[in-house]
Amino acid sequence: MMKNFRVRKFLMLAALLVALPLAALAAGPDRAAESLSQAVQLQTISFQDPAQVDKAAFLAFHDFLAKRYPLVHQHLKKEVVNGLGLLYTWEGSDPKAKPIILCAHQDVVPIAPGTTQDWTYPPFSGKIADGFIWGRGTMDDKGSLIAILEAVESLLAEGYRPTRTIYLASGQDEEVGGEQGAVKIAALLASRGVKAEYVLDEGGMVLDGKILGIKKPLAAVGIAEKGYLSVELKVKTAGGHSSTPPAHTAIGILAAAIVKLEAHPFPARLTGVTNQTFVALKPELSGSLRFAITSRKLLGGIIKKMLAKNDATNAMIRTTTAATIIGAGTKENVLPQEARAVVNFRLLPGDSVEEVIARIKRVIADPRVTVTPLGVPQEPSPITDVNSAGYGLVKRTIADLFPEAVPMPLLVLGGTDSRFYSDVSDCILRFMPMRVTEEDERRAHGTNERISLDNFQEMVKFYAKVIRNSE
Ligand SMILES: [Zn+2]
Repeated sequence: MMKNFRVRKFLMLAALLVALPLAALAAGPDRAAESLSQAVQLQTISFQDPAQVDKAAFLAFHDFLAKRYPLVHQHLKKEVVNGLGLLYTWEGSDPKAKPIILCAHQDVVPIAPGTTQDWTYPPFSGKIADGFIWGRGTMDDKGSLIAILEAVESLLAEGYRPTRTIYLASGQDEEVGGEQGAVKIAALLASRGVKAEYVLDEGGMVLDGKILGIKKPLAAVGIAEKGYLSVELKVKTAGGHSSTPPAHTAIGILAAAIVKLEAHPFPARLTGVTNQTFVALKPELSGSLRFAITSRKLLGGIIKKMLAKNDATNAMIRTTTAATIIGAGTKENVLPQEARAVVNFRLLPGDSVEEVIARIKRVIADPRVTVTPLGVPQEPSPITDVNSAGYGLVKRTIADLFPEAVPMPLLVLGGTDSRFYSDVSDCILRFMPMRVTEEDERRAHGTNERISLDNFQEMVKFYAKVIRNSE
């Protein structure tokens, strides 16, 4: 009897499961967290040296996505771009409506040598514990990629069809410049004449307002990003024996050049994006800071000095200078014939690569030091209009999901894949619905990268909502 009852119950349950639409199976917070956990375990690591990249790990990641998101792979057109880039097209019902593009990259940075044992849980375990999903990529940027796919899978399960065409674009090499991924995907879209209402990529986040004495969180939407330039400084001398040295060896000449660059930082500017940040924040600021911002024409100098004291805010008001590599000398009693250094600059919108190089030469003012740009310098991005429809849509979605947060435009200090999409859209927005404190920000690219289960749920909801709000 008992046994029969059990069998019947089992059959009923099985029939029910078969009858259930995939929707019910697809949904649920545990499922999304489990998806991210599994995504982290596939080690899609970018290395500066392309030969080190484990292509098989990326292909395994693509297989994982195909299995984990059956509806996405059934209803969206999937294209593999340049070997490992992914472009999904979700055809909208109105071919005349401008499409939108959601970006999130597949690759992650390596674990710094000697730090694996510092992690609470192994970096590629995807461990779900203590209310968090742990591991490399949870914050940057698999959290975003998986949240987007979870959102689309659940919308498809509900039978949702967008009005606008939605592209999901995922490069494989953002962490080493995006030349193989985002550059090629953006070029493909441009070649098809795609003009998007907006592109949404990583960049700004939901920040703790405490740093500015604001109780509310700040939803920072990146509307521009800084440019990138590395220059090599080189000094060549005759060399010789160190017993009869000249007044300055190659090392001394090079060192003097670096000292000059550090002594002459690029001038601070309280204009452009950072000015817009303060305009947005003004109602939330209190006391002296608010007064200073209101009277910034008068107090600009004081504000600039205040901002310059903190490395992060200093980087928002000027083109920064950072000597990052130096090398010279082989033996203690031999004069070096050559000394070389690399200095990295991040350009404020308004500055150009050409102007920065000219200023470097002017400041060093020493013909013995040659100045040569390295690699492919990046000009600062254009600035997205905060009055654009796209910015409005993202701002509205922020208000829906993070009603307590203050939205503000922000200058993104690092680089993102989105900068390559300027031919495809005038409205490039850099925002990830992730809540971070100052401490959390160090976890991305660092040790103990993680995202809370609650916040990851919010991320999934955000992307579903931004798609619905964009109708
Ligand atoms: Zn990233």
